Amino acid sequence: MSVGCGEDVVDDGVEAPRPQPGVDVTHVRAEIALDPATLRLDATAALDVAHPDTLTRLRLGLDDALEVVTASVDGEPVLFWREADTLTVPLGRRADASRVEVAYRGVPAAGLYADEAAGQTVLYTDGWPDRTAGWLPAVHHPSDPATLDLTLDVPEAAEVVATGRAVGDSLAGGRRVARFVLDAPAPPYTWAFAVGDFTVTEQDGPVPIRHALLAADAALAARLDRTPEVIETLAAVLGRYPYETYATVQVPMAYAGMENATASFLRADLYGARAEGRNPIEEVNIHEVVHQWWGNAVVPADWRDLWLSEGAATYLTTEVYARLDGPTAGRRFRTLMAREISPNDAARRLVPATYDDPGDVLSATVYQKGGAVFHLIRLTIGNTAFFEALRQIQRDYADRPLSTRAFQAALEAEAGRDLGPLFERWVWGEGVPTLRTRWDAPTRTLSWSIAGDAGTLAGVPFELYVRQGDRSWFVPATDGVFTPDGDARPAVEPVGVLLTVERD
Ligand SMILES: [Zn+2]
Repeated sequence: MSVGCGEDVVDDGVEAPRPQPGVDVTHVRAEIALDPATLRLDATAALDVAHPDTLTRLRLGLDDALEVVTASVDGEPVLFWREADTLTVPLGRRADASRVEVAYRGVPAAGLYADEAAGQTVLYTDGWPDRTAGWLPAVHHPSDPATLDLTLDVPEAAEVVATGRAVGDSLAGGRRVARFVLDAPAPPYTWAFAVGDFTVTEQDGPVPIRHALLAADAALAARLDRTPEVIETLAAVLGRYPYETYATVQVPMAYAGMENATASFLRADLYGARAEGRNPIEEVNIHEVVHQWWGNAVVPADWRDLWLSEGAATYLTTEVYARLDGPTAGRRFRTLMAREISPNDAARRLVPATYDDPGDVLSATVYQKGGAVFHLIRLTIGNTAFFEALRQIQRDYADRPLSTRAFQAALEAEAGRDLGPLFERWVWGEGVPTLRTRWDAPTRTLSWSIAGDAGTLAGVPFELYVRQGDRSWFVPATDGVFTPDGDARPAVEPVGVLLTVERD
């Protein structure tokens, strides 16, 4: 996802519910009939669930505004019960897998929306963190990804875009029935669909690429022209793209972007946005493309580990720009990454001790600080070990969730060194080290030193962005001293590393 909400973590010792131990939803097949005018749905879902053979009750998340009509386990009707947004289904026999089928209907309280954009009403889902429960029963947690077979039945005039590869689209009786298959697992919060009047532009790339834009904005697809190069660049960094297709979908959503599996949703009004020398919609798209590897294919073990997903997406966006547009572009984006975070968010632990709601974890801390820690790790262990570790994780964690501790261990195995001090200071620790700068006017000498980093920055080849009037330089921080041309005291910013800059 792009753009955090900036709320404070509620550190009150309460933790959001975890999935039941050993429960693994492996595949979901859903058939959903929708009335876009009322947001009413009438649906069935079949879940293939692996579980301990001692498990007697399976808990699934489902919006309590939806009525459950029937439930069955392995074809036998069962008496289910509801409590808030939890649907509990009894498992009658000793088995290590069950097929659970649920028929349900109603108007969800959250997760399914209709909003105006580009002169039309667009129906769309928005699932982070557990709002996919508004249209599908599942284990709504990042650690339980699954494959999906989704059939949507909508009025015939509408176009449907969804997670997965389109495998069927038929018209009958005034209705359109469209089917999508996601062949590789992704977490339920990344399952999504949108219904509207879309114009689709296709591109060739490492996989087939489609850009679904609201019809009035169709020409803006050109702003996403580099998507094939983005996917190729990330495949070179991270290994093969994990899915069979990629798409972007223009929707009037609240977040700037959402990394829905194989179908990133990008906020409608950003398509026309311009900024000096930048392409905002492309920046959001790159972030969401990174998530297809980090967040969707490799999933965080818990919401506490969200920085593994958001930090990677934030940091690797700067890496894509460095590779597509050159090292100076990479430096500019890394400088912005370190600049665009408040002192409070910078000081906060990357992995919260506890949280109440997953939304509490969503702040600039996991994005910008997370990205800065990825940069620091890279500079500390070197390019070869860093990128090889990322590729190794992509292979090793294709079928199990990645925790922060496991991430550290994978980096250490590749680098052949202990990263304990770095993780203690920057991941588990609070506060930000200080960069003390001094300016000696007579000799025009800028010098600096670092305090409070517990030695983690000693010898690390990060850079400082030094500006004096309209001139600027990228200077190795390890030099400790720099003499610019002019007489005015220069401004100093770290490139991609979080430091509080103080002037002596
Ligand atoms: Zn993100």
